[in-house]
Amino acid sequence: MSAQGRRILAGWLAVLTLGVGAAQGRTLNPESAPRPLRLESPTAKPWLAPVQEVDGVSVFPLRPGLEYLGGTMRWNQTLRKVVLVGPQGRTAEVVVGFPKALIDGKRWMRLPHLLLWRQGQVYISPEAFARLWREISDPTFQYNALTRTLACRLGAAASAAAPSAAAVPTTAAAVPPAAKNQSAGIKCVVVDAGHGGKDPGAIGPTQLREKVVTLEMAQQLALILEHDLGCKVILTRSDDTFIPLHERPEIANRVSADLFVSIHANASPDRKATGSQVFVYNREASSRKAEEVARFENKDVNVLEIIKDDLRQSVHEVDSITVAGLIGQEFDKGLSETRRIERAPFYVLAKSHMPSVLVETAFISNAEEERKLRQKEFCLKMARAIGSGLQEYAREKNQQQSRDGRPGAPRMARVP
Ligand SMILES: [Zn+2]
Repeated sequence: MSAQGRRILAGWLAVLTLGVGAAQGRTLNPESAPRPLRLESPTAKPWLAPVQEVDGVSVFPLRPGLEYLGGTMRWNQTLRKVVLVGPQGRTAEVVVGFPKALIDGKRWMRLPHLLLWRQGQVYISPEAFARLWREISDPTFQYNALTRTLACRLGAAASAAAPSAAAVPTTAAAVPPAAKNQSAGIKCVVVDAGHGGKDPGAIGPTQLREKVVTLEMAQQLALILEHDLGCKVILTRSDDTFIPLHERPEIANRVSADLFVSIHANASPDRKATGSQVFVYNREASSRKAEEVARFENKDVNVLEIIKDDLRQSVHEVDSITVAGLIGQEFDKGLSETRRIERAPFYVLAKSHMPSVLVETAFISNAEEERKLRQKEFCLKMARAIGSGLQEYAREKNQQQSRDGRPGAPRMARVP
């Protein structure tokens, strides 16, 4: 047996000795009737899954959920092990009560919640389900906790596509006609909630973590854009998952997004620093401070890696600056004192092949701004401001298109 095989066997032995009984003490409470969960598939009517609360976590029956999406499930009663099988045969094995899944028999992945066995069925939380389905079938599959919806964000074409560049559908094929106010120029926006999982981002004086506020604002922004702009919105993460930097622009490129917006909260050794900043990509930082921000957000990526292959972002520079200017104008409307729009070599912007901006919404390192960032209301205001800036950009883009009868760049906004 290979070393890896031994590790996996050891993992399962640990599961069998320690994990099996873990869920025994839990009870499903049929008295409480939480809102049902909505599953969406590109090929069928939405399915409303019955939800039960267990120890404060919502769970729903796994088997009908999987089958609704075109997957199957094998159940081993003796081992209390579930094998989830995706439409292309990829597998995730999970033992009830054990917090890890074995993907394709090769690598372990941690789950946000345990699977439960009750009343002759396996139950799973929507967060755990989304994570497993992303692994075995569709990398764009997400759980939106605000709308309690589990869905692939790209429609039928994408759910059939493998996550390789070659199999990526075009935006036109991937994005079905959207609802009201649809913007012809902006069909799909990727919203990137900075950091996540093991990467907390910057940490405030009273321990507020950047990853928490970026997720809050990104989720709010997604709802606003879907509602007001009628476009598709894809979140690079919809829960507290660690997503490596390189995957974030890759997601946007894969779906040929029209815009990429990365959301962060700023930090500075100067505890008095306050205000919002909107960044666009440039090899050369526009100030020493801008360079420091980029260095923090880039983590361990070295500059040569960033500037290599940055030309496909550079051709969108004018549009990126326009978007940044329009967001900055919204911030200026009494919400936040905007510092000037800056340029810096951010990895996630360099690798995006569409107009892209990175928004540092407020300084989490400043006690007063950290206090604001804790408030959902403030996060919603920031999201609204970013949404309004993007809407204005979409409006200009549409005007331009109807004038020219073809896609084109809108006028330049204020350039720093
Ligand atoms: Zn950040």
